[in-house]
Formats: sequence, C-alpha cells, structure tokens
Amino acid sequence: MIADRVEETPDLQGAHPRLSEAQIAALAALGHRRATRPGEILFRQGQRDCDFFVVLAGNVAVVDGHGTPEERVIGVHGRGRFLGELSLLTGEASFYTAVAADAGEVLAVPVGRLRELIAGDPAFGDLVLRAYLLRRSILIGLGAGLRIVGSRYSPDARRLRDFAARNRLPCRWLDLEADPGAEALLRQAGVTPDETPIVIVYGRLLRNPSNAELATAVGLPAPGTLHAGSDLVVVGAGPAGLSAGVYGASEGMRTVILDSTATGGQAGTSSRIENYLGFPSGISGAELAERAVLQARKFGATFAVPAQATTITRDGGNYRIGLGDGTSVTAGSVVIATGASYRRLDVPRLEFFEQMSVYYAASQAEALLCRGDPVAIVGGGNSAGQATVFLSRHAARVTLIVREPDLSDGMSRYLIDQVERVGNVRVLLRTEVRELLGDQALEAVAVEDNQTGARSIVEARALFVFIGAAPCTRWLGGLVELDDHGFVRTGGTARPAGAADRADGRNTGWQRSVLETSQPGIFAVGDVRSGSAKRVAAAVGEGAIAIRLAFERARAS
Ligand SMILES: Cc1cc2nc3c(=O)[nH]c(=O)nc-3n(C[C@H](O)[C@H](O)[C@H](O)COP(=O)(O)OP(=O)(O)OC[C@H]3O[C@@H](n4cnc5c(N)ncnc54)[C@H](O)[C@@H]3O)c2cc1C
Repeated sequence: MIADRVEETPDLQGAHPRLSEAQIAALAALGHRRATRPGEILFRQGQRDCDFFVVLAGNVAVVDGHGTPEERVIGVHGRGRFLGELSLLTGEASFYTAVAADAGEVLAVPVGRLRELIAGDPAFGDLVLRAYLLRRSILIGLGAGLRIVGSRYSPDARRLRDFAARNRLPCRWLDLEADPGAEALLRQAGVTPDETPIVIVYGRLLRNPSNAELATAVGLPAPGTLHAGSDLVVVGAGPAGLSAGVYGASEGMRTVILDSTATGGQAGTSSRIENYLGFPSGISGAELAERAVLQARKFGATFAVPAQATTITRDGGNYRIGLGDGTSVTAGSVVIATGASYRRLDVPRLEFFEQMSVYYAASQAEALLCRGDPVAIVGGGNSAGQATVFLSRHAARVTLIVREPDLSDGMSRYLIDQVERVGNVRVLLRTEVRELLGDQALEAVAVEDNQTGARSIVEARALFVFIGAAPCTRWLGGLVELDDHGFVRTGGTARPAGAADRADGRNTGWQRSVLETSQPGIFAVGDVRSGSAKRVAAAVGEGAIAIRLAFERARAS
C-alpha cells in the first residue's frame, strides 16, 4: 500500500521545506548516509529519541496507525526534505511511523547532534523549529496519533480530551454515541462500552488512565524525574512561569518548572495573541508556549507535567513544595506563577453540559469539535473577542453574548473592529445566559436582556465561556499574604525592624523587593499577583524580573 503512494506531498503551508545542499553537507558531517529498502521502517510510532532523517534519494512515507486496520499515509517526502516533528525536540515519543516508500538513501543524524547544530546555526534552527511547529498543528488537524474512545457523556472522556488538547497531543476522538468506528475499534480491542474511556497510545491500550498515566505513556516529563534539591522551583508554566524558567536556567540556577495541567497556561488556550511585542501578525498561545518550553530546556530547566503543587512549607533554609502524587521538591527560591482559572456560569445543569458542550478555551482542538455548528460565546473581554474571530472561521455562525451595554467596556479596539467585520457573527449586548437547553447535548441557550427582561433562544451546539478568572492560590495554605480577593500580595510594605528576612528565620537586613511575597525568597508573578496587568507581556516581564531579584537575594544571603 505504501509503495503505491510515492507521489510527494505538496508543501502548501511551509511545513516541509527542502534543505539546501550546504545545509545537507553540514548535517552529513554529523551523521551517516545509508541506503533504504522499500518498506523499511526508519522509526516507529511510539519510539523516542529517534535520529533526525534527511531524505537523499527516493521517498519516505509518514504513516498514521501503521500496521492497524486504520493505517493511512499522511505525507510522502522526497529528496532534501527532513522527517520528524516537535516530539523529536521535546523528548515525547513519535506520533507516527516513517517508512521508506522505495529504494533510496537517507542521512541519519543523532538527535543530540541535531540540537547542537540548531543551537549553533540560528537560520537552520528557525527552519526546523518552524516546520516542526507547523507539523504539530497539521497532525492535530488530521486527528493522527492517539485515539480516545468513549461516550460524550463521560466526565473521564472529557478530562482525557481536555488533557490532550491542552498539551497539544495529536489525537482522534471517537464518540461511542455517534461514531460507528468507535464500536468497531472497541470490538477489535476486546473492550466493552462500560470499560470506556480508553486511550490507544502507539498500539497500547490504556483503560481510563489518569492524566499522569497518559502523560507518562506519551513521554511528557513526569514528576518522578525531578532532582531532590534545586535552586529555583517555578510553580505554574503559563507565560510568567515559563519566563521565570527560561531566565532562571539561563542564569545557571538548577531550575524546576511544575504545572498541574499543561505548559502555556491561559495563554496556551488563546488562538491568536496579537498584542505581544515582536509578532506583528500575531502568534498562537500554543506556539508561544512550545517555543518557550524548548528555550527553557535548552538552558537546562527540568519540567514536570502534570504536577500539581498542593502544599508549601518551610524546610530549614529552603521551601518544600508538596505535589499531588505525594512527592515533593525543595528549593531556596520559589516563583509562584499559578495564574488564575476560569470562572463558571451560574446556570442550572451546567455540570451536565460541561461534559460535552461547554468549553473554557477556543483552540484548534475545540474548533475541530464544533466545525459547521452554531456556537455561542459568553464574555465581553479580549479572550471572548479572540474566540469569536477564531471560531467564526470554523463554526456555521457565532453569537457573542455580552452582559455590558457596549463592547468597548471590556474589549480592545482592534478586536472590536475584527468582530464587527465578520459576517457570521451576531453580538447580543446587555444579555445574560439563563438556561442551557437540550436533552442529550446542548441545542440552544435561553438568554435574557438585562434591561427589559425579554427572553429569547439562541441556537448553539457548543457554548464557550470567557467571564474572567479566580486566582489559583489555595495550595499556598496561608504561608504568604493574600489580598481580599485571594491574589498574592508582593512588595510594598517595609519589613519591621529585626524581622526575619530568610526562610531559616535569620535576618540579613535585606528589604522586601517589588515582586517578593511576605515570605523571603518566595516571589509571585503574572496573573496570580495582586494588582497584575493580566497580560502576556506583563507576565513575561515579571517572570524575568523575579529571577533577577531571586538571584540578588540568593547572593546577599
Ligand atoms: C482565551 C484567552 C486569550 C487571551 N488573550 C490574550 C492576549 O491576546 N493578549 C494578552 O496580553 N493576554 C491575553 N490573555 C491573558 C493572558 O493569557 C494571561 O494574562 C497570562 O496567561 C497570564 O500568565 P500567567 O503565567 O500569570 O498565568 P496562567 O496563564 O494562568 O498560567 C498559570 C499556570 O499555572 C498552573 N497552575 C495553577 N495552579 C497550579 C498548581 N497548584 N500547581 C501547579 N500548577 C498550577 C496552571 O495550570 C497554568 O498553566 C488571554 C487569556 C485567555 C484565557
């Protein structure tokens, strides 16, 4: 079958550039050339730390579900093109199999040597990184990689789909209620519907795995791999935490970055950030996060995802952060970057509809799920505006439901202009959602004009909610001072004369700095901080400043 498909896939999106002769020569010095036989497997789905392959002659096919009844060729690449995608650089296992389509020749470069070349040759590094980021998006769009099979009404199926979406794991969702392929796949795997959800990862079947089990199966960094002691622990891997991680590691601090869900935080759920410096045509939050993760890793930072911080206590001159799986990490400096989590609507039957039709993010994964459907979006801020513009390209029509009388009360002008320009968007001002309607899944929402009390029905198969967020600070257990709304207070007040300014209770005369919390050596950055700007650029800036301060403090202690 593969030998039949030897026509090269056209490069419509710039994801499959051809290397120049000079680039191939530079790579040849780092690897070895070898002949390929038709049908030869260069690397398999599920394999980690594969070589970086450049096709020198013949064609190589990229195959999803190799060796299964669902096998399909998703790309064919000829001379000068290189193989692989983001997982090669992040250490995740490969999401597909590469098979030589005919007799030819490849150049195989060990991935460690590839990293050296990327670090030493920025033009080549940019070319590979750009292609790999695009390929990840293409894989997600194709529904390649993992298979999640379950009922749309199962909370665990929803949890697994969300985890895959937030971590940008390419996957296909097979809904037992609607997809005939789902039952066939279950029969084949010898699984009954009541044993679902299941995840098929590289031919392995996982029955209702926890997020941590799924993470381990795909090669995400699990907490068990953390060092016993570090100089810096960053809790939260949104823009603020990623920035602290990049700067901490680049200053030579042994840095650990934890996140309970996925790297990228709220920004990772944003389809397009248009006001971040240096990206005039905008950048998706996922791409920004993926780039930052690679950058932090390059400087030696260690990640743990999913790893939920549940406690923080003093431990001699250090702080100990307890994690949800019972393990802990210690460090002399801690950066709290746990941001904020979405607020939920106060309407009946929300929990029921949350299992299949209510979303708190509008990324490529959600867009695929509601393609061609009417959708409603609640919220009057920039996140709602972005979601409106993005989803209007995928949904049949979008209704934006806003409580305020004017969009300019909460949305930036550039987004209002975009929302007003889109043909399939209707904006309902002074309007609030009162009821979610539908028997099995969402069919419509009942809304009310908050001035006249008039009710109407808005058809919607999916509801997207962007109505603000509450700080993630419960895990701090009272160790650091919070404001009346639960955000972490930083800087500002002078420490009383003689009060301890070190975690071990001693006093060195150090004054609390601008991003430092009420506990010496613990800093708070980004949306979790009282009075923060709630912007990506501000979060990134604060992450960098906190490291400077942590460094100075560690030197002074
Ligand atoms: C849809 C959307 C679009 C947006 N668009 C823009 C935009 O265009 N421009 C702009 O400037 N801003 C935008 N914002 C706001 C911006 O994303 C936030 O200001 C920014 O993400 C804040 O970064 P942060 O790192 O402080 O926190 P967050 O991004 O909230 O990240 C916090 C991280 O901490 C993790 N965490 C929480 N608790 C724990 C715990 N106990 N243990 C371990 N980890 C934990 C979370 O999982 C999360 O990953 C948008 C927000 C949303 C939701």
